[in-house]
Amino acid sequence: MSEKINVLFAASECVPFIKTGGLGDVAGSLPKALQDAGCEVRVILPKLGQIPSKYTEAMEPLITFEVPLGWRRLYCGIETLELDHVKYYFVDNEFYFKRDTAYGYGDDCERMAFFSKAILESLQYLPDFFPDVINCNDWHTAILPVLLHEQFMGIEKYQNIKTVFTIHNLKFQGICNEFNFTDLLALNGKQNAWDQLHFDRDCINFLQGALYYADYITTVSPTYAQEICTVPYGERLDHILNQHRDRLTGILNGIDTVKFAPEHALYPFTIDDFAGKAACKAALQREAGLPELPDVPLMVLISRLTDQKGLDLLAGCIDRLMEQDIQLFVLGTGDKHYEWLLGEFGKRYPDKMVLKAAFDEPLSMRMYAGADLFLMPSLFEPCGLSQMMSMSYGTLPVVRETGGLKDSVVPYNQFTGEGTGFSFNSTRADDLYNCIMYAISVYKDHPDIWKQLMKQAMTEDFSWGERAKSYIAVYEACLA
Ligand code: ADP
Repeated sequence: MSEKINVLFAASECVPFIKTGGLGDVAGSLPKALQDAGCEVRVILPKLGQIPSKYTEAMEPLITFEVPLGWRRLYCGIETLELDHVKYYFVDNEFYFKRDTAYGYGDDCERMAFFSKAILESLQYLPDFFPDVINCNDWHTAILPVLLHEQFMGIEKYQNIKTVFTIHNLKFQGICNEFNFTDLLALNGKQNAWDQLHFDRDCINFLQGALYYADYITTVSPTYAQEICTVPYGERLDHILNQHRDRLTGILNGIDTVKFAPEHALYPFTIDDFAGKAACKAALQREAGLPELPDVPLMVLISRLTDQKGLDLLAGCIDRLMEQDIQLFVLGTGDKHYEWLLGEFGKRYPDKMVLKAAFDEPLSMRMYAGADLFLMPSLFEPCGLSQMMSMSYGTLPVVRETGGLKDSVVPYNQFTGEGTGFSFNSTRADDLYNCIMYAISVYKDHPDIWKQLMKQAMTEDFSWGERAKSYIAVYEACLA
């Protein structure tokens, strides 16, 4: 296809404006890669209250209009900003978006229905841009393809818009009371929409709607694309995903390889000179308040603290691990239960384990750079970016073989020398323990092999280049 494809990338969070997890990283790096690969891209985001003032002050008002949402008539402004050659649109409505946190409110479905409807309405007024493809991401924009088909097809130029729906995490679906079908979405009398949104006895499910209405479904790794078609990983939507397998594909995420590069670490290093890595480790031990011991393996875990991340496996073997000569530094926030539990372990083993209960990106980058091992024993993992960030710095991951972890970490093979990390398959704490012990034995007994594995991890290609082309192939297939 010779003409540029106009892509509107719709997401609820995006680096550097706001990030709570991997979606923010992807929205902050994939659009740039798509643009570099020849698409004309705009990113559209809610103007959330947490966006730093240095960005909000630089935004320029573009248009204002009214958004009908059920019986409501709501103010909407679109503001714009260009950063690093990518143009961003921010959907402004202070009632919905100027809050203390991005998510976690009783009216989240209403907020995201507003966001999706506002995006569609805005296309009538935006100067200089009309999308060929809208790439929606996760449940926050899942209702958009439904509304496009049910409410906007009367407008001629909307008839050719294609939608791609990307699943970053199937667990979060946007489920609310069926009352919203009419009250919020104004889909009264639309039997098709009812059949495809209705979920459980008296609920509607935004994400389920996108599975039916989007032209194509992508997810963030090939293995997760297969897993979600099965009952254990399908979050009660596996039967629908199975029906649509012919338009479901998994494209492994990339990361911003300029940002997450050892050349830009606190003490820069390369595969030819690891002196900076040792300095990063010493600085990290000092920062964590752990003894500054160069030969003791330093493990880190950086994560949302939820059961998804396999923290019960870790809790199940932590006492045994702490009998070893090792250190563990955890950075994370989330479920209070895990914050308390990991904090208690920290108190029990003050010389070996530390929890920092915070969301701190600069610290996370110092941890990726300074550690020896990165723990990610997730029960499921759509893609996972942290393991790629850690490998970029030669910090070898210990992962469970699921989703994108399976697709991005090559387990060490002692016979061939291949490997960029260590992995195990079960959901048993014993197997995590054994895997960590194996990694530590290689670290301690075979420093040359360890160094070689670090080099292999650091030379893996985690960039978006080829992966962005796979997205473009999906857009082209939709438009063909
Ligand atoms: P998920 O999207 O499920 O949270 P990913 O591995 O895809 O997991 O992405 C997580 C992103 O959030 C990574 O960039 C990781 O570094 C970052 N992150 C997670 N927890 C923290 C934290 N406590 N402080 C800083 N960054 C964090």
